Amino acid sequence: MLLAFIYESSEPYMEKKTIIIIGSGFAGLAAACCLAKEGFRVHILEKNAAPGGRARQFEAKGFSFDMGPSWYWMPDVFENFFSKFNYSPKDFFELKRLSPSYSVIFSKDEKWDIPCSFEAIKELFEKQESGGGLKLEEYIQDARHKYEVGMKDLVHQPCLSAYEFLDYRMLKGLFSLNLFGSLKKHARKHFKNNKLLNIIEFPSLFLGASPEKTPALYSMMNYADMIGGTWYPKGGMVKIIDALCSLAQELGATIHLNTEARRIEVINNRAVCVHTANESFACDAVLGAADYQHVEQKLLSAPYRQYSQTYWNSRTLAPSALIFYLGVNKKLDNLQHHTLFFDKELTAHTETIYSKPRWPEAPLFYLCCPSRTDDTVAPAGMENLFILMPAAPDLEDSGEIRNRYFGMLLSRIEELTGENISDHIVYKRSYAHKNFITDYNAFKGNAYGLANTLGQTALLKPRLKSKYVDNLFFAGQLTVPGPGMPPALISGQITAGLIAKAFQKTKVKA
Ligand SMILES: Cc1cc2nc3c(=O)[nH]c(=O)nc-3n(C[C@H](O)[C@H](O)[C@H](O)COP(=O)(O)OP(=O)(O)OC[C@H]3O[C@@H](n4cnc5c(N)ncnc54)[C@H](O)[C@@H]3O)c2cc1C
Repeated sequence: MLLAFIYESSEPYMEKKTIIIIGSGFAGLAAACCLAKEGFRVHILEKNAAPGGRARQFEAKGFSFDMGPSWYWMPDVFENFFSKFNYSPKDFFELKRLSPSYSVIFSKDEKWDIPCSFEAIKELFEKQESGGGLKLEEYIQDARHKYEVGMKDLVHQPCLSAYEFLDYRMLKGLFSLNLFGSLKKHARKHFKNNKLLNIIEFPSLFLGASPEKTPALYSMMNYADMIGGTWYPKGGMVKIIDALCSLAQELGATIHLNTEARRIEVINNRAVCVHTANESFACDAVLGAADYQHVEQKLLSAPYRQYSQTYWNSRTLAPSALIFYLGVNKKLDNLQHHTLFFDKELTAHTETIYSKPRWPEAPLFYLCCPSRTDDTVAPAGMENLFILMPAAPDLEDSGEIRNRYFGMLLSRIEELTGENISDHIVYKRSYAHKNFITDYNAFKGNAYGLANTLGQTALLKPRLKSKYVDNLFFAGQLTVPGPGMPPALISGQITAGLIAKAFQKTKVKA
């Protein structure tokens, strides 16, 4: 009777297989939710005391600091993810669209608030450059097309083989995307004004590459910015992590904190066990959702590595970052939630990250003040500040260097906004390369993974499935589709799909 039930069932029947996921960032948690829903037994091993990876939060002196991401773009990606489980983001957190989306400071006398209405952004462009409004309309039409093709089809491909792109719809999509031009050239075909170009080009920094090296395909980020909007979950970005953890646990996954994977044991080309300092986790498959280079180079023995150290050294990494988390005991009325300090040359700074790596002489930076929007992240009457300066990976990182930049950035903020901050700092913490390495095993102290350059896109990124270990998979910001919360969320889903497919044929043996 039981046999008959098994074979007559329309559901693919599967033995309960155990998947060990290394890392509880966006990618690991997204994969855990999908795999647990498919009926796998899922264990997530996380080295840190809190889940979320680069999107963790810490609390100090009544302030709650998001440690990494602060821009919630592409709300459709989060909406799509949660809808797979019959939820919506609003079941977990309160989401607010910011208005203005962000501010850009060009000088003491020139500060632009970028409105959240596209019509108002067009007016701003028209004011700066004759015909700029119409040109922006055309530019965004094209970016919309790229976003639709890119996000609907291309971004969900595992990119394990060129055959994935050989169907008609996909090919048609690919040819319409201007894949081989650079964002810099593409932007300059439309706009001349340098400040407008800054607005168009800054999202490429989120992709971890200079506008010159970023494929024009990524003008889709301008669509995400100007049409999709900038959002904020009340309580901070960690609320998305909390949502993913509670969903994964509701579906049956187990999260093991303070549990660092030390070795993946492989027998006959199959991963059989993940060892930590105190425990060993037997498995049917492993998903490396920690930094790819760390998983391959540090957790696998040499014969099972697909990429050599020379390969990793030749990759263009996305930047690292020097970050300051500040608690300030007064309100700062001259600040918006997001402010970009573009009072220095963008090209000069990007050169210090990509072409001649060194600490920048005149850096651009970004300031986030989430307490402007959210009174839960700072004590009453105070502000929560996060200053981020992108820097090349693999630079010398010392207290002296951090202090020098702290002084430089703070005095620029004070001068450009007219706010006295120095005398009101009640909490300060800095974070840079050394912390990225210690906290996340980040190769060369990168913050955002691998840069999205043309030579590191799609099939040219490290593979989601190992060539040498049959049941070893990868996800996260160093593989497809790339850096950022939405791509990491998508990465976890794609790999979960590959794992589910690999076990689909396994029927229970009666
Ligand atoms: C400063 C900063 C600002 C950012 N700003 C934005 C933004 O505004 N908007 C946006 O969309 N994106 C932003 N990003 C990018 C985004 O945060 C990342 O792309 C995304 O969070 C990466 O997720 P992940 O799962 O790939 O990796 P991670 O978050 O790094 O997760 C990997 C996890 O693996 C764990 N781990 C490592 N080694 C081991 C081991 N041996 N055993 C067990 N666990 C291990 C780590 O502790 C970590 O928890 C920012 C990133 C940073 C650093």
